[in-house]
Amino acid sequence: MSAPGRRHSLIVMLTWCSSCRDQEIVQYRIYPMRSDGLIYQVEARDDKGKAIMVDVTKLGWDASTAVELDHRRLKAPTIKLRSAIQGPNGDVVYCIDLRITRPNAEFLSTTKMHSFEHFLLAGFRKYLPENFISIGLMGCQTGFYLVLLNEGNAEVICRVYEQILRDILVAGAVPYASVEQCGNYRNHSLELAQTLARSILQSKDNWRQVV
Ligand SMILES: [Zn+2]
Repeated sequence: MSAPGRRHSLIVMLTWCSSCRDQEIVQYRIYPMRSDGLIYQVEARDDKGKAIMVDVTKLGWDASTAVELDHRRLKAPTIKLRSAIQGPNGDVVYCIDLRITRPNAEFLSTTKMHSFEHFLLAGFRKYLPENFISIGLMGCQTGFYLVLLNEGNAEVICRVYEQILRDILVAGAVPYASVEQCGNYRNHSLELAQTLARSILQSKDNWRQVV
C-alpha cells in the first residue's frame, strides 16, 4: 500500500457500477515507483476513499502498461492487461488486449481474423470455462479483446493462450464454421489461422514486452 501523503497524480472518473448500473465516482491515484517514471502503482478508490482496485502487479502485470497507451509505442504480438474492474461483491472483470500486429503498420485480413477468433472462442471456453466471458475483434484489425471473470493472472492467461495456439497447429477444421453457428461461414481459412498461430508462438518470449 502507498504511504499517506506520497506524491501522486489523481484522476477522477465517472463510471458505472457493474451491478446496480448507477453512476459512481472513482478516483485513480497514480504513484511513481521509479525515478525515471516508467513504473507506476495505480490505486482506485470510491468517493468514500475505499480501495476498489485490484493490485495488478501481484497478478504479474506491469501496472504502468495497464492503461490506454500511445499506439505508436505498442509492440506485437503481445498480451496486455487493459483494465481490472471490481464490483461491489468482490468479483473482478479483467479486460486483456491480445495484440497480434503492430498498430498502423500491419493489419490482419478479415478471413484470418475471423478464423482465429473462432479458435480463440473455442479455446478459452474449453480451458477457462468458469472465467471466460467474451472475445472480440479490434476494429483496427490488429488484435482481440479478451474478457475474463475472476481470472487475471498473467501466467495463467499466457499459458492458456499458448495452449490454444498449439491446438490450432494440429486442428483439422475451424470450429463453429457452419451456417448454423456463424454469420459468414464461408469466410474461413484453417491455413491462415495456422500461419498466424505459428508466427505468434515464435515470439512467445516477448509477449509481455508491450512497449
Ligand atoms: Zn464466425
